[in-house]
Amino acid sequence: MNDQEEYLEYLRSRKSSFKRNYHKESLKEIARITESGKKETILLHACCVVCACWPLEFLHDAFDITVMYNNSNIYPSEEYEHRLAELKRYLKERWKDEIPLIEMPYDNVSYTEKLAPRADDPEGWKRCFFCYEERMREGFAYADANGFDWFTTVMTFSRQKDSQKLNAIGLALQKEFSHTKYFVSDFKKDSGQLRSNQICDEYCLYKQDYCGCVYSLRNKDQ
Ligand code: SF4
Repeated sequence: MNDQEEYLEYLRSRKSSFKRNYHKESLKEIARITESGKKETILLHACCVVCACWPLEFLHDAFDITVMYNNSNIYPSEEYEHRLAELKRYLKERWKDEIPLIEMPYDNVSYTEKLAPRADDPEGWKRCFFCYEERMREGFAYADANGFDWFTTVMTFSRQKDSQKLNAIGLALQKEFSHTKYFVSDFKKDSGQLRSNQICDEYCLYKQDYCGCVYSLRNKDQ
């Protein structure tokens, strides 16, 4: 099967009705932790405040959350800084700095070199799969080395990203680490999108109009 055929096959598979209900699984896990009466710790990878604001509300009653901004994919650096500043502003205004934020080193030049072999991929295909896994693996490694109970990413909030794929990556990564578990999610479900819109309006949060890398920026401008 060539690359084009593989891509079309993948698109067909996304329409399949045989999908794991990760949202339902996440609700069960939250109910179990809430019933235990003891919050667990989670490292939450956040790519931007638009995707992060609703997951923070969703997770807050069950978890002690630490947010990680690990996004060397974002181009240019001004955009990276702007998304980070908006995330910080929101954590301060809504959460009164109760939720810690870890910023990982930013190296867009090296990161873009890694994406370059798949530069011409349509958005949501193998370049993106690599991009999800790269940032999630780094986040997972940090979570495991620092004793977090759980790791997850807000990326399942985005309608442009395949939650089945993101959760499959997370569950596969879990096998590489000894302590931290992967928290499955589908944050867009149950009106997540609507609730994020309401929060963004209330706090006048910046909504970017491209995913992040130089290739997604070019596609937007075409
Ligand atoms: S489009 Fe988004 S997810 Fe895909 S490679 Fe670019 S930054 Fe990463």
